[in-house]
Amino acid sequence: MQVVRSLDELNSVLEVVWAAAVRIGFVPTMGALHEGHLSLTRLCGPCDYRVVSIFVNPTQFAPNEDLSRYPRTLDEDLAMLSRENIDLVYVPSVEDMYGSGVQISIQPGEMGKVFEGAIRPEHFAGVLTVVGKLFHRVKPDVAVFGEKDFQQLCLIRKMVKELDWPVQILGGKTIRESDGLAMSSRNRFLKQSERASALALSRALRRGQEAAIRGVKSTEELRGEMMQAVREFPAATVDYLTAIEPESYAEPLEFSATSRLIGAIRVGSVRLIDNMPICE
Ligand code: AMP
Repeated sequence: MQVVRSLDELNSVLEVVWAAAVRIGFVPTMGALHEGHLSLTRLCGPCDYRVVSIFVNPTQFAPNEDLSRYPRTLDEDLAMLSRENIDLVYVPSVEDMYGSGVQISIQPGEMGKVFEGAIRPEHFAGVLTVVGKLFHRVKPDVAVFGEKDFQQLCLIRKMVKELDWPVQILGGKTIRESDGLAMSSRNRFLKQSERASALALSRALRRGQEAAIRGVKSTEELRGEMMQAVREFPAATVDYLTAIEPESYAEPLEFSATSRLIGAIRVGSVRLIDNMPICE
């Protein structure tokens, strides 16, 4: 496994790979890796050459967010990746990524203004722009993103479709702790006393799935059931909790088999997001 830190080094390694015309699989991450990230690298299986990037992208954090305290665990990350079937890890610096400027960005449009985009207005422009830059630098055939960040996955699919980029996007299932909490680099910030309350979100989404199986049809009724489940955890507060259609990210009056249950809660200083299909 090779590790490169600059665009020049990346180019000199990849030139040979591009010339060989092999299939390149790519997993962009912000590091602080866990099983969820590793599961994405395993979805690159059918590719001949596998690239992972580790870059905590400052442009997707608002000034009041947690950029400075975002976990950085590069040595552990590289040790974990060295046990997987990874060929190249790209760890650019902020200077390497943005040295030529940050005036031009990719705007996510309407789908990027709701839910996560309403709460974090610059977030998705930052994500799409850095993913675009990484795609141009790595030139992958396949790129893998987690369903954990479902709105991000939908926007990346939309971006490559609307901008005609020749990269196939794969979505990886959310990997969870044994009690159902979706793995996240930010879970380490949960205090011991807050850890139990973090379960409010996955429990609420499961309650939504159960309500759908029982025959509930209206999104409003479904939302009520999910909110009730969160109230069983007094330390958790809800940012949003509902069902949406993945194509538009609109909330249907009555949900369908293709709808997705999505939610975000806060527990202490930690913000958690999660989602599940209406029926598994
Ligand atoms: P991050 O490092 O948080 O930017 O995440 C990098 C990639 O890993 C994104 O595509 C995430 O959606 C994905 N990811 C994060 N957590 C999980 C998880 N628990 N299961 C599967 N994929 C995940």
